Amino acid sequence: MVQVIFLGPPGSGKGTQSARLSEFLAVPHISTGDILRTHVAQQTDLGQKAKAFMDQGDLVPDQLILSMVQDRLDQPDAQKGWILDGFPRNVTQATFVEDLVKQQQVEKGSENADSKSLNTINLEVPDEVLIERLLARGRADDSEETIRHRLQVYHEQTEPLIEYYRDRNQLSIVNGNLPLDQVTAALKNAIVA
Ligand code: ADP
Repeated sequence: MVQVIFLGPPGSGKGTQSARLSEFLAVPHISTGDILRTHVAQQTDLGQKAKAFMDQGDLVPDQLILSMVQDRLDQPDAQKGWILDGFPRNVTQATFVEDLVKQQQVEKGSENADSKSLNTINLEVPDEVLIERLLARGRADDSEETIRHRLQVYHEQTEPLIEYYRDRNQLSIVNGNLPLDQVTAALKNAIVA
């Protein structure tokens, strides 16, 4: 059982590194951004509600996100572990994951066996490098104005989670401002499977 939570700002490389680690650790890569973009493309009810928030660079409201994540984590492939990319993004979402992990431990009857398998990693990259990377990526929500807003939302709502996980002794910090392979190697070292 290995569970990985990727913190780190937009453009820090969470998606790329999660895909690589997913293969290495043989657990699914669960990106809330990707799931939301699929909903938008398919014009589901959730997609229609989420689109305006995503276009603005704001967080999609928790009431929409939490059930979406719950559904994904209930799938059979997620029972052996997961890599969460883009979730949690605020304290409410972090509490939700914490409760979920505790609940799983109770169900499996292992009070402490699994506590070490939750890895939280912050990929650190300076803002000016992030802006350059996101502008080069050119996704629909990657205009300079939206990028600056997403970074602001990150600093205000998501960055406090670094302290939240540091207090729980679950945090590794990895420098994301290095060549891809070096970042992957550092991540493999940091993760306790
Ligand atoms: P990035 O890492 O570049 O910010 P993502 O693909 O992770 O991109 O997310 C894109 C957008 O999807 C976010 O700006 C936000 O609107 C929405 N989103 C993704 N994950 C969440 C989440 N956990 N809670 C709320 N909104 C989210």
